[in-house]
Amino acid sequence: MTTRSVTRTTLDHLLTEIEHRNPAQPEFLQAAHEVLETLAPVVAARPEYAEPGLIERLVEPERQVLFRVPWQDDKGRVHVNRGFRVEFNSALGPYKGGLRFHPSVNLGVIKFLGFEQIFKNALTGLGIGGGKGGSDFDPHGRSDAEVMRFCQSFMTELHRHIGEHTDVPAGDIGVGGREIGYLFGQYRRITNRWEAGVLTGKGQGWGGSLIRPEATGYGSVLFAAAMLRERGEDLEGQTAVVSGSGNVAIYTIEKLAALGANAVTCSDSSGYVVDEKGVDVELLKQVKEVERGRVDTYAERRGSSARFVPGGSVWDVPADLALPSATQNELDENAAATLVRNGVKAVSEGANMPATPGAVHLLQKAGVAFGPGKAANAGGVAVSALEMAQNHARTSWTAAKVEEELADIMNNIHTTCHETAERYDAPGDYVTGANIAGFERVADAMLAQGVI
Ligand code: NDP
Repeated sequence: MTTRSVTRTTLDHLLTEIEHRNPAQPEFLQAAHEVLETLAPVVAARPEYAEPGLIERLVEPERQVLFRVPWQDDKGRVHVNRGFRVEFNSALGPYKGGLRFHPSVNLGVIKFLGFEQIFKNALTGLGIGGGKGGSDFDPHGRSDAEVMRFCQSFMTELHRHIGEHTDVPAGDIGVGGREIGYLFGQYRRITNRWEAGVLTGKGQGWGGSLIRPEATGYGSVLFAAAMLRERGEDLEGQTAVVSGSGNVAIYTIEKLAALGANAVTCSDSSGYVVDEKGVDVELLKQVKEVERGRVDTYAERRGSSARFVPGGSVWDVPADLALPSATQNELDENAAATLVRNGVKAVSEGANMPATPGAVHLLQKAGVAFGPGKAANAGGVAVSALEMAQNHARTSWTAAKVEEELADIMNNIHTTCHETAERYDAPGDYVTGANIAGFERVADAMLAQGVI
């Protein structure tokens, strides 16, 4: 037996253990499989990584906090939601990762997101550990006052567990500038501290970084551009299918247009819009960010170039590029087969784990450049870390400086993934490159810091 096959057997055994220890957490198990399945070559090449307990510690969160979040709606009725904060790994810095408010949130979802975050944050090269949190609260259709009361109740418990040197949450699905404002206000009130670095994604006038709202979408497009460059192509004149119509999707569409490409779709959980002229991002911002409306309203207002398709799959729309920017497992094997049939060249994951394992396999087999979320959407957390740096220094940088830093970070992540994949005999495989490069950085820090 070769060292690599012994390692493979050990990793398979570990995966079985993880399944036993985490029943009914399919998203977490999917994420753990996805990472561990690519680690055999690095563990075989560097025996110190086979040290008993290293990977076992990596897949077990350092701390998991679950709490009750009671709040009253505008009619005085009491609702009880569940709050989560999973502090996964702090070997590289304070836990860092967003808060998600969506009815589908449960412990397994938060653990998958927190686990991904460890490697993503390591890839940025910055000093941030991995964590994630949220609640099964659904902000859709709630008034500002209801959202405020919910956020205040959520923070009344969460404040005990976070801090600028401990754990620094940000936004994710259902948590944008409005929610971060309410959360920060309550933290400040309870602690009697102006601790700007405790949350990122803050408003521009009170400690927020320029370009933070744009960073995840912009970064995902920059990653797609880097993958195309590697193949001797660029974004100019390419068409793109984008899913979602929230923070990540909007700024993905904006950056594609700025770099000469054309996004022809957007979507939400009710269906998708095809816009032959290309999505008008200012109209989309007005409908989604100002009016908190849905994409069918965008189609109604846009006129004859756009049509709304209720339900259905946005991936049926032919394009050169696909940038899934809504949620996990939104692009399955059938959708991937359609994309391949339609001649897609590159897929850049703006969302976390939007492509299923079968879809990833099929796209890679067909020679499509595939940028996994932990690399492609790392621009958001990277600029969050830059927001922390600005807060610490009590200064604020210009938009141009932040954008320049973001571009450098995304290009470095691309180079790191590309070179790591080549080093481990998987040229062009960004999944393997991202997993191994992220793992090496975290594992080295964990080994140096002893068994804790
Ligand atoms: P938003 O809440 O701003 O937008 C989410 C979008 O995705 C909405 O259009 C929403 O539609 C759609 N969506 C969410 N859940 C579902 C679902 N189950 N089925 C269909 N559509 C759905 O979130 P973000 O744009 O911030 O986040 C999008 C993705 O990007 C997530 O995977 C997130 O983890 C990831 N991400 C976000 C970062 C950030 O900085 N914000 C950083 C890195 C990754 P609807 O309104 O109908 O629910």
